[in-house]
Amino acid sequence: MSMETTAWTQLHSVMNAQQERRPFDRATLRRIAAFARPHRRRIAQFVLLSVVTALLAVATPVLAGHVVDTIVAHGDESTVVRLSVLIAVIAVAEAAFGILGRWLSSTLGEGLILDLRTAVFDHVQRMPVAFFTRTRTGALVSRLNNDVIGAQRAFSNTLSGVVSNLVTLLLTLVVMLTLSWQITLLALVLLPVFVIPARRMGSRMAKLQREAADLNAAMGTRMTERFSAPGATLVKLFGRPGEESAEFAARARRVRDIGVRTAMAQSAFITALTLVSALALALVYGLGGWFALRGTLEPGAVVSLALLLTRLYAPLTSLAGARVEVMSALVSFERVFEVLDLKPLIEEKPEPRTVPDGPVAVEFEDVRFAYPSADKVSLASLEEVAALDTRGGDEVLHGISFRAEPGRTVALVGSSGAGKSTIAQLLPRLYDTDAGAVRIGGVDVRDLSATSMRATLGMVTQDGHLFHDSVRENLLLARPDATEDELWDVLRRARLDELVRSLPDGLDTVVGERGYRLSGGERQRMTIARLLLARQRVVILDEATAHLDNTSEAAVQEALTEALEGRTAVVIAHRLSTVRAADLILVVEAGRIVERGTHEDLLAADGRYAELYRTQFRTGRQDAEPIPVAADATP
Ligand code: ADP
Repeated sequence: MSMETTAWTQLHSVMNAQQERRPFDRATLRRIAAFARPHRRRIAQFVLLSVVTALLAVATPVLAGHVVDTIVAHGDESTVVRLSVLIAVIAVAEAAFGILGRWLSSTLGEGLILDLRTAVFDHVQRMPVAFFTRTRTGALVSRLNNDVIGAQRAFSNTLSGVVSNLVTLLLTLVVMLTLSWQITLLALVLLPVFVIPARRMGSRMAKLQREAADLNAAMGTRMTERFSAPGATLVKLFGRPGEESAEFAARARRVRDIGVRTAMAQSAFITALTLVSALALALVYGLGGWFALRGTLEPGAVVSLALLLTRLYAPLTSLAGARVEVMSALVSFERVFEVLDLKPLIEEKPEPRTVPDGPVAVEFEDVRFAYPSADKVSLASLEEVAALDTRGGDEVLHGISFRAEPGRTVALVGSSGAGKSTIAQLLPRLYDTDAGAVRIGGVDVRDLSATSMRATLGMVTQDGHLFHDSVRENLLLARPDATEDELWDVLRRARLDELVRSLPDGLDTVVGERGYRLSGGERQRMTIARLLLARQRVVILDEATAHLDNTSEAAVQEALTEALEGRTAVVIAHRLSTVRAADLILVVEAGRIVERGTHEDLLAADGRYAELYRTQFRTGRQDAEPIPVAADATP
């Protein structure tokens, strides 16, 4: 590392140091050690290599001293030749070891990235849905990327920077002290002369740079805003172009001034560093020469000391900034550990049960539920707020009991916010109940294995989500071992076969966010196709509230009829046709079931359902021509 680059790094780390001042955390260190443990052999090799490299680095100046001594003593030519060949060999070895060291530290660093990434990914995947509904995806992905890489970088920097610099520094110092302790100590005394002002200046520079960044951001926003067509129009109509320009120029001038000051400070810093080491060098020559002339020091030792001195300042300055690197490593690690420490609210029992074979019933028994408070499911730093809400949510469900018999359809109706979706979410155990029990086939969902749950229960949501992947892959999610024929069979039954055939790459056409755009109805049918493929025995269906076009709706209905055939279904119903066909209608209001029965029973009772029927269902377009659905549909 040249003196200049060291000075730059030094200045920057001093500046950063003003922003991060935290004590070392022992627990974090222990956990980092745990992550580093599998790599301990590589680490040991790296440290060994650092020692060898440092030894080689001090060897050259010492050998150069011997050359001088040989010359002064009018010694053998062959000795000089041998020494210089040795110096050349050492140079080659240093180069080779340098590459080897880089290889070791990069395999270590990348290995660590791999470990951390997979650990975080696995963990986040186990988090409950509540976590994802709260967390901003961007913040989470940044945690997976930036912090993991930050942790790695700091780890490798600490290793290659701190460890090897420390070894070099110690060895150089030891050799220098043995050559002449007086000169060495005097040369070191000069160091604080430059480190102390540098620290002071670093904090001033950091403040200035932050100001410049803010000003730049403000100017950027102003420009994009003012230079958009509507913004420009507004300025032309109402604006004061003179004042606008003046204000802009004032900010731009401030940025200019800061730029000049930063440049001057950096140059002063580098000059100071160069000057200090030059002065120290003068000291070595002066004092060393004095001792040499008086015969207390070999002339070669003076040369060795001078050469060693130039190698002393580089590790010294970079070690001065090492604290910051170690700190930022700790912070990155802590941010990663923070995610790893989140306890998944919902976890499989150690010995989970499975759903019994055959058609199964679904049962809610006196279920009470409140959405968990934010601090239970998320992280303040991921939501980018200072502190999370610790208040538990209000109870949303107050004693829900019902039973969907095997192969039957239960329709949930009620006004918006009544608790229908919440009931639907408790069934696949996206949340756990606070009291009461939810059972599938007589087994409490908390005792079920995740695999058995997935195999038994399917969910069709309003907006069938598709991954940015081929139609094939999106379908295979439901059953990875499905054959080509089976795929076409479910596509036909979901009324999608013609569409998929007409796509440019057929089954391999990429759909989803940036792929081929499927319409709402087509997406829903795709989820239905998934459901048909997975052959789950229990289905939760959230009917689309948005109106689909006529053909689309008819196709969705037909596909659904087939999908629900013979399955136990809980449907959040928005269509008259669905409620009519349901075996049991539950009217949910404010977290309670207020009425239950069939369409006819409930109309006759002339209660809340009759009212809903008049206001909600009758006005719907579907009312014009009810399409048979679910249980009463005959294939
Ligand atoms: P519906 O499906 O009948 O429209 P929901 O089950 O979505 O009603 O909502 C029931 C109640 O639960 C509402 O008061 C709603 O504000 C609340 N709620 C829904 N989702 C959440 C959530 N993720 N966190 C907190 N409260 C929620």
